[in-house]
Parts: sequence; structure tokens; C-alpha cells
Amino acid sequence: MKRVHIDAQLAADTLAAVGIATHILNAHAAGAVGDLPFLHAQPELWIDDEAQAERARAILASLRDVPVSGEKSCPRCGEVNPGHFLSCWHCGGGLRDY
Ligand SMILES: [Zn+2]
Repeated sequence: MKRVHIDAQLAADTLAAVGIATHILNAHAAGAVGDLPFLHAQPELWIDDEAQAERARAILASLRDVPVSGEKSCPRCGEVNPGHFLSCWHCGGGLRDY
């Protein structure tokens, strides 16, 4: 089994870290499944600036390739972080080059 969808909040946080503003729609609509069609109750991540959409897609696509083990060093402060971290726990810097 393999999870292929990315948590909307994780995606929003990742994009915020690189300066792309987003809004999550339907963040709390899961409780309405049954009253709403399933697909209408899924969280949706919207990019505020359409010009950033292609960059956002590339960044989110790269999330699927993040290793879940090992360690990586922060390029900003040098702190060692767990391999699945997207931003440095110490300074908040991004751990991948986009
Ligand atoms: Zn750091």
C-alpha cells in the first residue's frame, strides 16, 4: 500500500515556506460526507497567485520523493534533521532545493 495524496496542510506549510501563499478550502468538510458528495468534501489547496501555480505543482510533486529515513543537513545553519523533514527544526530553512 502506498499513500499518494499529500496532506493539504503539509502542502500549504511547504508552499508557505518558499513564499507561495495558499488557502485551503473544505478543510473541515470531511464531517459532512454523507450530506455532501465525497469529492465535494475533499480539502482543496488554492494558490493565491496564479503565476506561482506551476512552481507550486513542481514543489508538491517533489514531496513524493522525500526520503523517510536517513538524515540531511540544513544548508542554512548546518543542523542535522531527520530525512523526512521538509524544513529545518532549528532555523526553519528549507531542506530541499526547489
Ligand atoms: Zn537550519
